[in-house]
Amino acid sequence: MYTIGVIGGGAAGFFAAIQAASSGHKVILLEKTSKVLSKVKVSGGGRCNVTHDCKVVSKLIKFYPRGEKFLKKVFLQFSVEDTLKWFSSRGVELKVESDGRMFPVSDSSQTVIDVLVREAEKVGVTIRFNAAVQKVTKENMGFNVHLIHEHFGVDKLIITTGGSPKIENYGWIQSLGHHIVPPVPSLFTFNTPNEPLTELQGIALADTYIRLEGTKLSYEGPLLITHWGLSGPAVLKLSAFGAKWLHDVHYKANAHIRWNKGFEEEQLRKDLVQYKSLHPKRKVHSHPLFGIPQRLWIYLAEVSEINSESCWMNISKRQNNKLLENLFRFTIGIHGKTTFKEEFVTAGGVDLEEINPQTMESRLIPGLYFAGEVINVDGITGGFNFQAAWSTGFLAGINATK
Ligand SMILES: Cc1cc2nc3c(=O)[nH]c(=O)nc-3n(C[C@H](O)[C@H](O)[C@H](O)COP(=O)(O)OP(=O)(O)OC[C@H]3O[C@@H](n4cnc5c(N)ncnc54)[C@H](O)[C@@H]3O)c2cc1C
Repeated sequence: MYTIGVIGGGAAGFFAAIQAASSGHKVILLEKTSKVLSKVKVSGGGRCNVTHDCKVVSKLIKFYPRGEKFLKKVFLQFSVEDTLKWFSSRGVELKVESDGRMFPVSDSSQTVIDVLVREAEKVGVTIRFNAAVQKVTKENMGFNVHLIHEHFGVDKLIITTGGSPKIENYGWIQSLGHHIVPPVPSLFTFNTPNEPLTELQGIALADTYIRLEGTKLSYEGPLLITHWGLSGPAVLKLSAFGAKWLHDVHYKANAHIRWNKGFEEEQLRKDLVQYKSLHPKRKVHSHPLFGIPQRLWIYLAEVSEINSESCWMNISKRQNNKLLENLFRFTIGIHGKTTFKEEFVTAGGVDLEEINPQTMESRLIPGLYFAGEVINVDGITGGFNFQAAWSTGFLAGINATK
């Protein structure tokens, strides 16, 4: 007889199960597939971006479009530093990259899998593969967990089944009485079909500003022009914070791009006038201004109706204004999204109002706990999603034993 059941063998499930079993409880972990930790395996391009080098909780929570306040209470109990200690005390050292992402020094996600599996074995977690939970019922003294051909009882239950963009996959959690915030995908790049800008694929800009028209959603950072549209950290952040809005408009929207976040409209106007008076005979196409890469500069001039032969002295006020507009507020149509190869997550899941962030226990059903991506928490790319899984998993595991 097991006292604690954990449903889902991902990052959160392993952390919860290990934590619960280390205090001597009999723990069973049920995984519906024939493999555990599959996402850990492929994460971070096979290197597993375990966490992010951000040790100040008030800063860390800003990287979560959903769950910011909830996670504050969670991270104050199990922080990035606790994650580092957990792994290093078990022989897995993490290194930090220049952008703050943290990876095992081995640069292999297998190192992370190995330590989690070894630790689970050490503390006696029983792992059942091909054990897809179909239904859970609340009984007087605990829970009845239904698999396809059998069912059994546990005293406490931790649900760590991860995210899914399909609401029907949450049906059995809804049957327990919990509400699900409708799931939508997060972390994707923007498709801009039929936009000639994509011919400039490969151009990367270090510090842009991008905003979704008709919203207050805007982000700054590197931007990459790809053969299908726009990518890079600024776009991924915008996709995460705008996940719900973009879903609701069927991924059809206009984005405004400022090619350098530091541009000021009036200053640009003055600079263009000054340049024109200083260099009237220069061809516009031949001398990119404001640090804009040459191919992009030529493109922006062309869409401002300035051809390759035009000199500054021939530029009309209308052309000048168009160029200014395209530098400061370039408009591009988004039609669809493409999954980001490195990392994608689900926004939505079990409503946070129904979970106690101090313990991860359900506020509706005592003895039921949640952790990981199954709850309405998600982070941007950079190790934040695993950090949420480790922290919530740890808390669920420790509290389920009380
Ligand atoms: C390609 C990719 C790369 C990523 N890279 C990173 C990264 O480098 N850093 C980062 O922070 N985040 C990354 N993420 C996000 C991160 O992987 C997830 O946020 C994290 O794995 C969530 O952990 P979890 O344990 O909550 O869920 P999951 O890892 O999804 O685990 C849930 C488990 O539950 C099982 N399950 C589901 N339903 C049932 C059921 N009914 N019965 C039994 N078992 C069930 C599933 O099979 C699965 O094994 C990446 C995501 C993807 C897709």
